[in-house]
Amino acid sequence: MLSTFWQKTSGLFDALMQSIPHCCALCHAVCVEGLCPDCKNRYFAAALPRCRQCAHTLPESGESLICGSCLKQPPAFDQTIAVTDYTPPVDQLVLAFKFGGALALAPLFARMLQAAMQRHPADFTRPDVLVPVPLAPGRLASRGFNQAHEIARPLSRQLGIALMPRLIKRIRETVPQTEIALRARRSNIRGAFAISEGGLPAVKGRHIALVDDVLTSGETVGELARMLKAAGAASVSCLIVARTPL
Ligand SMILES: [Zn+2]
Ligand SMILES: [Zn+2]
Repeated sequence: MLSTFWQKTSGLFDALMQSIPHCCALCHAVCVEGLCPDCKNRYFAAALPRCRQCAHTLPESGESLICGSCLKQPPAFDQTIAVTDYTPPVDQLVLAFKFGGALALAPLFARMLQAAMQRHPADFTRPDVLVPVPLAPGRLASRGFNQAHEIARPLSRQLGIALMPRLIKRIRETVPQTEIALRARRSNIRGAFAISEGGLPAVKGRHIALVDDVLTSGETVGELARMLKAAGAASVSCLIVARTPL
């Protein structure tokens, strides 16, 4: 009952955010989505070939759908869909969303993710559940929102796929992954998550899609995927707005 009320309320909030004019986060032109059509065409039109597992870009001429790094050391997650690379000026857009309060970009990111899912190879199966990557409680308290949840909420409505933001909880604080060396990230994140009480039936035999704004080393989603598969998940995908290039 309460969750239905919340879904309706948050839907109205998202609809309101889309109906009022905003400044384009990149060029400051007035627009309705938080990004003007010109900037959208300029920076988001190209859909590059990507590794189906980790979403790193592949050479245009390449035959393989999997990159060399995933062939050598397969990550625990099965597939990744990314809208674009985390390069200028897209990084500024993500930073404006995360730290500049440009929350109007969330429904736009969700629509771009949906379009990227539709472009993906036919073997991408529809997820059963969407789970935003949980933010550490300390960071959630200081930021006031989880950017992954803000993207996952309209995405869940667009796709008609259940959103379970509390399926996974952080059980210990970690140093932000961006503040430590790439090779130390796996040990930093290991054992940081647990499936919430009563959450196992939503995991067993299901395809879980983890939603986040940026994918860098992949250690956080890798740890989540390991945990979900150990709990019986059939497959784990990552739905990401921006992929940090190699
Ligand atoms: Zn613009
Ligand atoms: Zn790969």
